Amino acid sequence: MSSILAYGLILYCRPGFEKECASETSALTTKAGLPGKVHAEPQSGVIRFVLNEPVDWRAIADAIPFNDWVFARQRVVWVGRVEDLPTRDRVTPIASIVHDVGIHCGRVWMETADTNDAKKVSGMLKRMTPHLEFALGNQNSLKNQDSLATLHLFFEGQDRVDLGLTMLNDASPWPMGIARLRMPRAAPSRSTLKLAEAFQALMTEDERTASLKAGLRAVDLGAAPGGWSLQFAERGLHVSAVDNGNIAPAVMATGMVEHVRADGFTWRPQRKSEWMVCDMVEQPTRIAALVADWIASGRCRRSIFNLKLPMKKRIEELAKCRKLIDQRMRQLPGAYTLRFKHLYHDREEITGYLAK
Ligand code: SAM
Repeated sequence: MSSILAYGLILYCRPGFEKECASETSALTTKAGLPGKVHAEPQSGVIRFVLNEPVDWRAIADAIPFNDWVFARQRVVWVGRVEDLPTRDRVTPIASIVHDVGIHCGRVWMETADTNDAKKVSGMLKRMTPHLEFALGNQNSLKNQDSLATLHLFFEGQDRVDLGLTMLNDASPWPMGIARLRMPRAAPSRSTLKLAEAFQALMTEDERTASLKAGLRAVDLGAAPGGWSLQFAERGLHVSAVDNGNIAPAVMATGMVEHVRADGFTWRPQRKSEWMVCDMVEQPTRIAALVADWIASGRCRRSIFNLKLPMKKRIEELAKCRKLIDQRMRQLPGAYTLRFKHLYHDREEITGYLAK
């Protein structure tokens, strides 16, 4: 596998965020010393970066880890393409290029961009999957092993497919980067899935194990109607849900939530807590300063928060918030972790994770 050449990167994003994804791709590849060109069509949900000279696929993957992107739902290393796939048998030419390139993968994900147009081929992909898996298994290209790469087959239309590779520990865990999560029965809003996705997308397994333990405390600023509080309550954490609005009865019925009617910017807890999460819709720099202050003062150990970015200045506003938090954290001894992602369940906002 190590000698497979990469021709570039394919990045999936929310349609409408191509400009931001292209801009960070350009910055990241330049910083990594990888010359090439970024191609982005508005509303396409996909960005392509084409290298001037092919490089080893692991070299480009290692040079720019997936987590360095905020606006990419997935970052796939592009290693091949098949055009003019015949309608009657698409499996044979795909299996043949997988073999010729020398790919050994642990799973195959059939993907498209997240647009209605691109998704028209989903039915065809579903029908084809078992046949392709069978063919790849037969020729020893596919083995059920976690340590092997994921093979992404990214379809643009019915007759063109790009081949991409990722490793499980350096990629979105979901096909197409689209989080598929169970909606809790007591959930008062879909917003609950955003925090569930953030736990998966922004934290490592060790971080989750350490911080989502029964008995710990969480503060939820801007909590109503209680979707985020429910995520903690269902894991056995005690929640202070701060909001002047009402918390849904089903959330209060968990017995784990105390509703505090107060202003989330001025309210302070009597005890330290593991978590402070914040979904108040406010100026992003104001939220960033609040989060940094909670962590710096030791009121909480970690935070997940939303920043609602202005449409025309998303990158600039994110940079401002990042700088503000970095400056505050650097005044303190010891290391900290700061990550951002434009989650599948985010729209105009992005989600941050800060821990000390
Ligand atoms: N995360 C919630 C959920 O999952 O159900 C949804 C939160 S909603 C997007 C934003 C909430 O922030 C609103 O209920 C609003 O009342 C609250 N909010 C806005 N400004 C606030 C403030 N200064 N103090 C407390 N709550 C505030």
